[in-house]
Amino acid sequence: MSTKSSRIPEFYKLSVEERLSIVRKYADLTDEEVETLRSGRLSYDIADRMIENVVGLMAMPFAIATNFLINGRDYLIPMVIEEPSVVAAASNGARMARVKGGFHASSTEPIMIGQIQVVRPPNPYKARLELLQRKDEILDLANSRDPVLVGLGGGAKDLRVKVLETFRGSMVIVELLVDCRDAAGMNAVNTMAEAVAPLVERIAGGRVRLRIVSNLASYRLARAWAIFDKDILGGEDAIEGILDAYAFAVADPYRCATHNKGIMNGVIAVALATGNDHRAIEAGAHAYAAMDGRYKPLTTWDKTPDGDLIGTIELPLAVGVVGGATRSHPTARIALKILGVKTARELAEVMASVGLAQNLAALRALATEGIQRGHMKLHARNIAIAAGATGDLIDEVARRMVEEGVIRIDRAKEILSELTGMGRETG
Ligand code: NAD
Repeated sequence: MSTKSSRIPEFYKLSVEERLSIVRKYADLTDEEVETLRSGRLSYDIADRMIENVVGLMAMPFAIATNFLINGRDYLIPMVIEEPSVVAAASNGARMARVKGGFHASSTEPIMIGQIQVVRPPNPYKARLELLQRKDEILDLANSRDPVLVGLGGGAKDLRVKVLETFRGSMVIVELLVDCRDAAGMNAVNTMAEAVAPLVERIAGGRVRLRIVSNLASYRLARAWAIFDKDILGGEDAIEGILDAYAFAVADPYRCATHNKGIMNGVIAVALATGNDHRAIEAGAHAYAAMDGRYKPLTTWDKTPDGDLIGTIELPLAVGVVGGATRSHPTARIALKILGVKTARELAEVMASVGLAQNLAALRALATEGIQRGHMKLHARNIAIAAGATGDLIDEVARRMVEEGVIRIDRAKEILSELTGMGRETG
């Protein structure tokens, strides 16, 4: 267990260099890693091998959320995101959770689903039984394609077969359940699904079409709960407000989409920092939220017998600490080092906790003073930059807009031109 504390009061008031020096000490970063963070360095060489048709790079801010205590261990959380307020809100939510012991997180085994679609089987229900009967043969063939994963205790573990009635007729769908260990596992699963397809086709008859992982990783769940002290939250009315906000999300998909988006603000920022596939995570989370036919919040909120607030979160998280870009992107490797997570499950548990902290902070702000005051204050600097401000002028233009209570691009340009006489040419 770490003896280092992630509770760093007024971290946000420090300069970037001061913060970096704290993180460097905390995570024992090398000079080279510090330089990589500072410069956001990604060589053309690596970039050109990550995706196709590369012509350049695009940098994003890399920040640290503080205060996270998860399963009794302190974590500094790397977050990459373009939206202001998210990192502040996560740190704030985590600070409030610490008082009553922080987050209690858990996860299931890292099982992903690979689907093999058989169209026009002559006898779908018979095919289903025959496929199930030859399960071991199919699993062995799948596992022969990834001895590394199997050697680590993972691999294809089980098989499900279902018959779907579609508008194109009956289909047999074979589902490989693959333990992906510390990889997100999408490539691993796809490779296995393609490998077993000819055998599946021979057994089932008909024709195999798709062989692809499902992003609804409903067997690969991360969970967390935390208790938030009534007084820290701002008293009974704040709790009532949060519960009213939660009830609104449960009852209305329009609100619920935004409720879940707020959760994903945190989850995706950590996914980006660690080089994980955020589209896969988004797809999985929202599909899971709608799994029983109605789109629901990924969190629950309730009052404890003592009058405190208790929150829970449960969502599928197909994330890895190996594979994909997690090890090939130099900054992602540093993010994993700062987190200090050893397994994909631990990373998923951290991400679920971040999602819960994010949701609490958003609900509390929404249910009390509203989010715009705090958010626009932080967003003012972005608007100043968009208006053409540079250097110290960014803070000065932002400060004046916040003081006036008018945080808009037209006003930013006016202030900038008052300050420099140049604002109008920039927009
Ligand atoms: P990968 O193929 O790069 O790495 C996984 C492999 O690493 C495993 O198959 C295993 O052989 C090896 N490995 C070594 N140590 C391991 C360990 N401790 N635990 C597990 N495996 C270990 O990556 P991946 O995780 O299979 O796939 C992720 C990538 O797939 C992402 O980049 C994603 O964008 C992409 N992808 C996603 C989808 C989708 O979401 N629908 C589809 C295709 C590809």
